[in-house]
Amino acid sequence: MNQALKEIGQCASALFELFFPRICEACGDPLYENEKAICKACLRKLPRTGFERNPYDNSLGQLLWGRSRVETACAMFYYRKGETVQSLLHALKYKGYTEIGLELGRKLGALMKSNGYPPFDVIVPVPLHPKKYRIRGYNQSEVIAKGMSERLNIPVDCTNLHRTKHTTSQTSKGRFERWENVDGLFGLHDPDKYLGCHLLLIDDVTTTGATLEACIQPLNKVPYSKVSIATIGCTYL
Ligand SMILES: [Zn+2]
Repeated sequence: MNQALKEIGQCASALFELFFPRICEACGDPLYENEKAICKACLRKLPRTGFERNPYDNSLGQLLWGRSRVETACAMFYYRKGETVQSLLHALKYKGYTEIGLELGRKLGALMKSNGYPPFDVIVPVPLHPKKYRIRGYNQSEVIAKGMSERLNIPVDCTNLHRTKHTTSQTSKGRFERWENVDGLFGLHDPDKYLGCHLLLIDDVTTTGATLEACIQPLNKVPYSKVSIATIGCTYL
């Protein structure tokens, strides 16, 4: 009976794909069976940073020097307005295309795994404010973290780090204002939970590093802990 139901399900999804083929979110071409969200040709064309070659000393880590204690840093792609990485992350964030986040997370996890990053204990996504979470229904950084977790085999914790106050979207502010805003923006419900842990903080994209800095503030206060950071995109640094 279960087998029959499974076969009916497979037929239904094959029929569905015949009329509504899965397409690449970047170019709109149909995807091959082994491709997810983005086709291989588009993936190859995205602007790679190469930061993974220097986990402990790259431009993303240097962006936070003097502001936070960061062990290793990784960003997979450069991010610029009007380019493909931005439209992919926009579709993930605002159009509900969570498969993009999962797949980019898997790629980022695999990249870090094969490039000499140290072992991490927990993946911590940058939290959305609960109000935004209720409206959107998901947190894009959490989706990316889940994809990374599949490749790195470490758990994701979304319950400890939290926003302490609501602020308007960072992207609508000027650079100076963003710097002003980071103090006390995030906190930990249970700091002891991260005692002695190497935490991997995840965000979808970073521009000034202000959000990462704000999240690292409470994490850096946990005794014997270390913090590393990883994002899908970052602006040219
Ligand atoms: Zn494509």
